[in-house]
Amino acid sequence: MSEAPSPCISGCTVRGDHRTTCETRDAKVDPCKGCLPRDAETGLLCAWCMSRLTSDVATAPALVAHLREIGEPYAQVAPPSDTRTYRDPAEGGILPAAWGAADEIHADLASWALLILEEHPLGAGMVGPDEVGAWHTRYGATVGVIEVRATERLCAWLRPLLPWCAAQEWAAEMRRELGSMIATTSARWPMQDSEKARAVVGVRCARCGFESLDYTPTKGADLPFDVRCVNPECGRIYTESEWDAALAKMTVERGYVA
Ligand SMILES: [Zn+2]
Ligand SMILES: [Zn+2]
Ligand SMILES: [Zn+2]
Repeated sequence: MSEAPSPCISGCTVRGDHRTTCETRDAKVDPCKGCLPRDAETGLLCAWCMSRLTSDVATAPALVAHLREIGEPYAQVAPPSDTRTYRDPAEGGILPAAWGAADEIHADLASWALLILEEHPLGAGMVGPDEVGAWHTRYGATVGVIEVRATERLCAWLRPLLPWCAAQEWAAEMRRELGSMIATTSARWPMQDSEKARAVVGVRCARCGFESLDYTPTKGADLPFDVRCVNPECGRIYTESEWDAALAKMTVERGYVA
């Protein structure tokens, strides 16, 4: 196999690198910032898209737990045996907004799980995620979450299938949809964990060049930490080896002795 690498299906480009046909790289007004396509590394996704997708799926359970917790004081009497009634909007809109956001995240992840089961070549023989604790319509569609463990199980089920997802035509859509949902929801209801995030001083983002990196120690995720660029126009997430490389570079540049 000596196929030339294909570009990331999300249309990502390499900042600062240009196609030979680029005509606006040196333009005085609004010059091109980089138009060379980023190579797909996992399936049809580039390394950045893949790490973003993985990190969003890893973040979802903690975010859902956070949203359920925030909503708790606002939820009125909720007879556990009759989940349908207390969630019925006709009963007077007692569903807290944070719970609605948790439902949206769970339902979206569940719809991707459903698509995987439908399209994966082994899907017919696969056991889907355990749905105990999810909220279903009477017709069986997953529309939300009642117990956080349901989201944890769903994400644990999704995680090993992400490389397969990355090879599908809809990989970019999945990446974008989950990415914007998790980002918007975390921005609206920031997690307590984010208080532990600290700005990294003295290291510039490899993508946008700003000193805009945040470091968060994570627990229970695939990575021991989360390093990301908080410049909203960039949002780059660093893998462990990229972060090691960035630190090594800083050490060399400044003559630090590690
Ligand atoms: Zn260009
Ligand atoms: Zn990409
Ligand atoms: Zn950046």
